Amino acid sequence: MGLPRRDALRILAACMADWWLPRSVYAQKLRAPKKPERRVIVVTFGGGVRYEDTLAPEGWINIPHLTSEIAPQGLVYPNGRHEGLTGHFNSTAALVTGSRQNVDAYGSEAPVTPTIFELFRKEHALPPEEAWLIATNKSFGLMGGSKLRALGDPYSANVVLPKQMLISTIKAAVSTEAGPGVENRQALAERMMLALDEGYEGFGWRVFESGRLLGAEVKASLAKSLLAYFNDPAAPTSGDELTFFMTKEIMNRFAPSLLVVNFWDIDIAHYGAYSLYLEAIRRTDRLVHELWQHAQSLPQYRDRTTLIVVPEMGRDSDIAGNGFANHRSGDESCRRVWLVAVGAGVPRGTGTERPIRTMDVAPTVAQMLGFKMADCEGRPLAELAF
Ligand SMILES: [Zn+2]
Repeated sequence: MGLPRRDALRILAACMADWWLPRSVYAQKLRAPKKPERRVIVVTFGGGVRYEDTLAPEGWINIPHLTSEIAPQGLVYPNGRHEGLTGHFNSTAALVTGSRQNVDAYGSEAPVTPTIFELFRKEHALPPEEAWLIATNKSFGLMGGSKLRALGDPYSANVVLPKQMLISTIKAAVSTEAGPGVENRQALAERMMLALDEGYEGFGWRVFESGRLLGAEVKASLAKSLLAYFNDPAAPTSGDELTFFMTKEIMNRFAPSLLVVNFWDIDIAHYGAYSLYLEAIRRTDRLVHELWQHAQSLPQYRDRTTLIVVPEMGRDSDIAGNGFANHRSGDESCRRVWLVAVGAGVPRGTGTERPIRTMDVAPTVAQMLGFKMADCEGRPLAELAF
């Protein structure tokens, strides 16, 4: 459906420009009273990957950029562990709060302890453009902040779900544009929405909107660039490619100090095809590398950015579970992860066998960005936290 979809989008993009952005492009000056010098980007191999398919020697073939270009410049923790529930929302929420999150696995509840986004923004009195979560997993709408009285929506991250943003943009354009060929456009747009709207576990995937919505102009501007991107015949169309594109846009426009990026195509493993799972791992590896290169190309990021790369969790072993396809058994294979860090403040070409937990990431980020972490289960990674 490549060509027809693009045709539909070309027509849509033409009407969108006036419809979304009648007057001005977003040009608001950032009011950043105490914007730190340091930048931190946390990227997840979302969906979860098994150790044997990635950081174990037999898995290196699947993560060539990470093992041959990023890790040698940084620090590797091969003995990482995810504790707590092995759902996607639960594991990423543990990463951004430093504590296990026993909340709904499909994202209908916000994290119950403070997120790094809220604590960072509140302590430094920073605008929302300083903290972003960009997620391929569309159930992450409430990941940007807890609902705690002193924190919550006013201090949450800007959460962008690029697939969802594209879908709603197209829906809005189709429904307002009458005239010749409208049925045809609607049919094409619906097919495209279906293609983007997948949830690999087959049920329960919904979008939950937080009380803190993106500013109208920011949203319109990002939606427009997303459509323009999609309309380029050379543009790849996976969810993670969209997430990558949107992450670059946000870095270019706002240069936020804190970015958490969830790649999630790997979860296609639920369909049971090992080759698709490996293909998604390789794509994630490539996108992580391209993201790091992009950071080096921007003066606002070069030499002051720390990149942290970590799987959301593992996946089932062939023995305890039914193999790579799922992450339900809760066995060691489901929990074993690794972590690679590179950039500002990170010793080059080192590693430590010391066991760490994904919950250690949040307090580590707090030390890097100079804000006080709330009480949590994780501990700062001493090798990185300076
Ligand atoms: Zn899954």
